[in-house]
Amino acid sequence: MAEKFIFEPTTIDQLKDHYDVIIIGSGGAGLTSAIQAYELGLSPVILEKMDKIGGNTTRASSGMNAAETFVQLDHHIIDSFEDFYNETFIGGGKQNNPELLKFFTEHGALAIDWLNQHGIKLDDLTITGGMKTMRTHRPSSLAPIGGYLVTELLKYVAKYQIPLFDKIKVTDLLVKDGQISGVKAVGERDLTINTEAVILATGGFGAGKDLLAKYRSDLLNLRTTNQPGATGDGVKLAQKVGAKLVDMDQVQVHPTVQQDTPHAFLIGEAVRGEGAILVNNNAKRFVNELDTRKNVTKAIDDLGGTGAYLIFDRDIRKRVKAIEFYDHIGLVKTGDTIAKLAETIHLDPQILHQTVYDWNVAVEQQDDVDFGRTTGMERNISDGPFYAIHVAPAVHYTMGGVAINHQTQVLDKDDKAIAGLYAAGEVVGGLHGNNRIGGNSIAETVIFGRQAGQQVFKYLKA
Ligand code: ADP
Repeated sequence: MAEKFIFEPTTIDQLKDHYDVIIIGSGGAGLTSAIQAYELGLSPVILEKMDKIGGNTTRASSGMNAAETFVQLDHHIIDSFEDFYNETFIGGGKQNNPELLKFFTEHGALAIDWLNQHGIKLDDLTITGGMKTMRTHRPSSLAPIGGYLVTELLKYVAKYQIPLFDKIKVTDLLVKDGQISGVKAVGERDLTINTEAVILATGGFGAGKDLLAKYRSDLLNLRTTNQPGATGDGVKLAQKVGAKLVDMDQVQVHPTVQQDTPHAFLIGEAVRGEGAILVNNNAKRFVNELDTRKNVTKAIDDLGGTGAYLIFDRDIRKRVKAIEFYDHIGLVKTGDTIAKLAETIHLDPQILHQTVYDWNVAVEQQDDVDFGRTTGMERNISDGPFYAIHVAPAVHYTMGGVAINHQTQVLDKDDKAIAGLYAAGEVVGGLHGNNRIGGNSIAETVIFGRQAGQQVFKYLKA
């Protein structure tokens, strides 16, 4: 068996006082942009404030959306940029920034190619809420994508010896003559590092109580799926140098989060994409489980605070490796029969039995008369043992953030690029409109991470 890869951050004595480009944040966007910049001949550095590398990216479970990929063709799925654009646009309440969405939907396939060239293979396909076509790419091991992607990207960071310092928090961007000239940071001591370009890859503010209080105080009592470092630093850093912010009140609450333990664990959309249903306390379905996150969240909220149960069987479980982990930490209830499962979770056995029976008929006939579900109907729920996970909505993703153009240049209040300042990933606002589609956040980090690396190269060589 291959040896387990363990990444070691760079030791602080190796920190230099100048780099071509400083990348703030070590999630998907930061790592991708660093690799891209390095491969173009630049000397990047990655600064990460936490002692853990990978940010919220490590928590992503479903996959990476892209259209017209070779993987889809291998699976005989004919897709189009146009469908990807339109479905994302409708899912986002038609509030998505069209310039960013166009670039995004037309560059996913190239990002899949790029990952493939780097041995990062996303050969399997699933589907997420709001999409009509199988375009959510994931590893054929069916492992959660986030951990896999971060580990594989870190192998390149290690191979190229790209310096990556943890426990260094950037506190200020420095600007001279209207151009980025460096950053101030704190680690064991205060630091000033010089550069001509900065890429903000700092993620969102789903764990940032102050920004949530400012923009969405109604969500303050909800739990969050985010890592504690997701505090919106990038937004604040950019704002201090004149950046425009967009859509800051657009915060995604994820419908299916297990939160009966001190931690909140997101139960990825792939569980529903592979065939799970949701039932209420009366053991009945109440929504098209693969409607958009916004709509499924509302349906669960409307139950009045009870949460809901995801119900699935062994066959579906096999299709989502993350369930092994959820079970390992005690989040999954099991029953040899549907009736036994119902007893375990205190639902009416007969009604749950009937609900599952009716659902299996809908799958058989490919016609969900009750809720009009049309996707995630490849398999029924009949292969015991059967499983349930109790879920409820929690703060998950911040759609708002800094304004950029499709070249990832951060824009000021007059929509002019701030020279030398770039941004990619969740720190950016506008791409997702008022609702992010599952599988689009990982895609965004790779697509715009690559673009940021390329555009910085162009800027520096001009
Ligand atoms: P994305 O998915 O957009 O790549 P992630 O949440 O995966 O975003 O990663 C963002 C990373 O940026 C996190 O690891 C976070 O701790 C780090 N980060 C946020 N603010 C700062 C900061 N001020 N200095 C250094 N790192 C930061």
